[in-house]
Amino acid sequence: MTKTKAGLPVETRKLEGWGRYPTASGLVMRPEKLSAVREAVTSERWTSVLARGLGRSYGDPAFNPEGCTLFTERLDRLISFDPQSGWLRAEGGLSFRSILDLFLPRGWFLPVTPGTRHVTLAGALACDVHGKNHHRDGSLGRHAGRLRMLLASGEEVECSAKERPELFHATIGGMGLTGLILEAELRLVPIQTAMIRQQVMPAGDLDSLMALLEEHDTRVPYSVAWLDTVAQGRSLGRGVLLLGQHAQVSDLPVAHARNPLRRGAGLRACVPVEAPGGLLNPTTIRAFNSTYFNLQKRKAGESLIALEPYFYPLDLVDDWNRMYGRSGFVQYQFVVPASTARSTLVGVLEACARKGLASFLSVLKRFGPGAGNLSFPFEGYTLTLDFPVVPGLFEFLDELDRMVLEAGGRLYLAKDARMNPATFRAMYPEFPAWLEVKRQVDPHDRFRSAQSIRLGMHSQEVLSR
Ligand SMILES: Cc1cc2nc3c(=O)[nH]c(=O)nc-3n(C[C@H](O)[C@H](O)[C@H](O)COP(=O)(O)OP(=O)(O)OC[C@H]3O[C@@H](n4cnc5c(N)ncnc54)[C@H](O)[C@@H]3O)c2cc1C
Repeated sequence: MTKTKAGLPVETRKLEGWGRYPTASGLVMRPEKLSAVREAVTSERWTSVLARGLGRSYGDPAFNPEGCTLFTERLDRLISFDPQSGWLRAEGGLSFRSILDLFLPRGWFLPVTPGTRHVTLAGALACDVHGKNHHRDGSLGRHAGRLRMLLASGEEVECSAKERPELFHATIGGMGLTGLILEAELRLVPIQTAMIRQQVMPAGDLDSLMALLEEHDTRVPYSVAWLDTVAQGRSLGRGVLLLGQHAQVSDLPVAHARNPLRRGAGLRACVPVEAPGGLLNPTTIRAFNSTYFNLQKRKAGESLIALEPYFYPLDLVDDWNRMYGRSGFVQYQFVVPASTARSTLVGVLEACARKGLASFLSVLKRFGPGAGNLSFPFEGYTLTLDFPVVPGLFEFLDELDRMVLEAGGRLYLAKDARMNPATFRAMYPEFPAWLEVKRQVDPHDRFRSAQSIRLGMHSQEVLSR
């Protein structure tokens, strides 16, 4: 271990994303003060840097194997909050969990949230995360105000949708490659209770599931469908639509209505040991899929559910990513336009069946309009599948990439671990415009990640190659 001029330890350690594939080794620092961040970003000790939040992106976007990865979770100070408007300003390393701890009891919620609370404000903005309300409210960047950024030159600048808009839009969804987000503003939304009114609607096949989504998701803010990837034939694509809206005080039983913002305690579990071959194999995944479908079918109808288990069911199991064993797993998430969605979904599900691959968790959702630049969502359907890394998986995923590309779709960079540069460029036609901004603010590619190296997302890149 060595130290920086300011005495901060720099160590070499194993680096990986939430999917634990791929892995690398590299230098790591955990700055707590702005001066240390500035020193790290401009230091001549390494050729490049990258900010990392809580490492909840799946593949290789959140580490830099060549230079120094800056773990930012200590940069988590709350700067201001306006209770009239809901505007919060905080350092980029503040986690969504801390925001909820502070603001949920006061009647405020996140405008957009991913399926885990263990993300940082800046990490979530750099991926422009989407939530169950994307069809109504868009992705997180739409609810952000000003960003304070540290650029490769060491200069600090502010940007927003109105001020330096090109930098703002290239940073939202820009995967940490335009600079380091020091502070960000986010507008929280008022809520009356910490409960959700949930409606569960089972569907026996893909057509009925898509019809349910189209019929119902416009009337409620939150919608997502769980899909059984094991079912075949007439049941292909069967699943369960889960709709939700914030409960009002008048929706609660009298005893609960006295303290409507009280949070449920929630059960906690963890994956205690690393199963060498993983706890999830084709047999356990199959069993889970059909059991879960039948369980949800029995729950059909409306119920009240505590807000956090509704939004973050996976957070109840610590380190659940270890269930896939040491080889790790890949989360494959794509979006396709509505016009090609049905045929692509059928094609992907049939291809999985032919290959004998079932996904443990599979989520189908409708997106509303997108935000441009490298932001992932656009209007259409998105499907998320989890696959353990096994021999032959990547050739199979290349085949899926071709289907998605032909359908006019693309993959989510926050989940990507293995896409090739040609596919990336074809899927993201806005890349050249994004690269123009990168060239202006980071001409020597000071900000790099394993993913940006793999995909060639660099100022020095020649696009016609
Ligand atoms: C269980 C689970 C459920 C999820 N559900 C969803 C979902 O529903 N929707 C969705 O969109 N995503 C989802 N995700 C993905 C996750 O929300 C995103 O990857 C999120 O951005 C991770 O935040 P993080 O703080 O861990 O960032 P990291 O994973 O550490 O980093 C992500 C990116 O942000 C950049 N970054 C981090 N900090 C900064 C900074 N200060 N300045 C500039 N760039 C920075 C990094 O360089 C990297 O490119 C889920 C992930 C998990 C594990």
